[in-house]
Amino acid sequence: MELFNLKDPSEQVNFAQAVKQGLGKQQGLFFPKTIPSIDDVDALLAKPFNERSAEILGLLLGDEVDADTVSGMVNNAFQFPAPLAKVSENIYSLELFHGPTLAFKDFGARFMAQCLSTFSKDEKITILTATSGDTGAAVAHAFYGLDNINVVILYPKGMISPLQEKLFCTLGGNIHTVEVEGDFDACQALVKNSFDDTDIREGLHLNSANSINISRLLAQVCYYFEAIAQLPVGDRAKAVISVPSGNFGNLTAAMIAKTMGLPIKRFIASTNVNDTVPRYLETGEWSPNPTVATLSNAMDVSAPNNWPRIEALFEFDYLDKALLSGDRVDEEYTQIAVKKLNELGYVSEPHAGVAYKALSRSIEDDEVGIFLGTAHPAKFKESVENILGTPVALPKELADCANKTILSETIDSSFESLKAYMLKTLG
Ligand SMILES: *Cc1c(COP(=O)(O)O)cnc(C)c1O
Repeated sequence: MELFNLKDPSEQVNFAQAVKQGLGKQQGLFFPKTIPSIDDVDALLAKPFNERSAEILGLLLGDEVDADTVSGMVNNAFQFPAPLAKVSENIYSLELFHGPTLAFKDFGARFMAQCLSTFSKDEKITILTATSGDTGAAVAHAFYGLDNINVVILYPKGMISPLQEKLFCTLGGNIHTVEVEGDFDACQALVKNSFDDTDIREGLHLNSANSINISRLLAQVCYYFEAIAQLPVGDRAKAVISVPSGNFGNLTAAMIAKTMGLPIKRFIASTNVNDTVPRYLETGEWSPNPTVATLSNAMDVSAPNNWPRIEALFEFDYLDKALLSGDRVDEEYTQIAVKKLNELGYVSEPHAGVAYKALSRSIEDDEVGIFLGTAHPAKFKESVENILGTPVALPKELADCANKTILSETIDSSFESLKAYMLKTLG
């Protein structure tokens, strides 16, 4: 797969380079030169999830990675299902939270880990990332136990939930977690300093594994096929997909799936009150406001970093702009949606609540709606319990790690401390 930098089209790379590099010059995103289409979508939809996913990814990556390697990567990455749960007559939830960290980010992070491991066979690399929770957990579990890769995850001391901390700071092995005496911005600044430091960048073969990595999006394309495959055949062309969005990676993947030939009628970009995109779709003006904290905090983003990729899909005529509408769901309606789902017998959480609300406002009689369940309700236990007034049980993954010991080291927020830690631990 050949890709180019959306900010500087003269920068062209293959998939392996794009995965290793993450971002292009001037922080530009990589975008495929061409997006292939699938000849016989119905035949593909009839296949099992992993076999089908290996075929989709093979079509995208086949010029660089042989078919057996692609299937091996898919089998290592996708070890949990993505079931479509019916919540009412014409509405379904695509449950993407059955992976080890109970959120959809497991799919992308695990496939990215497989890619990096495959493409850096002969050298030991170090993944360095800062997290305020979710991403760090997904990255830690995705890379855990991979031979030639060390992972260092920085997080702000006292600012992530105790359960969240247990989920990724108890693994050990090649996963090194560091609690920084500072806030999330301080953690991000340390990551940036490390990339600017030759001893660390070159000595430890540093890589960022961040959320704009193209490998994540391609992995996510596969579960949209899995969603449509589970619909009755007669309903497939009526599907409307509502994506609870923050950085808009998930929606980008949905739209790439459509570009490849997956029958999806239209898309809804659902956001909380951080509604830069819905306002832009309505007015044509891009004017981010300051970010506001909400119940659906993984979507508290006002300058979504994947948006240029969606623009590119329109600009290069892969898709018609009219296929996408936006909607903003405020805190009150998010709670109403979580309650309504509960009345329908479906325990959910605020992110999916936003997507469900936007979908139910917009769906027509002849359509079938799918909203994405991006996280397990237990991940947002406190909010869900507050909204519903009933306890939410911990799933096995969380219950199991609640008793484990946190293995993190603590450092102050100076770069000297991080550098000393990295060279001592990994050098
Ligand atoms: C990351 C995340 C989102 C937002 O996904 P994007 O791809 O950034 O739009 C939504 N819900 C949950 C639970 C998340 O963790």
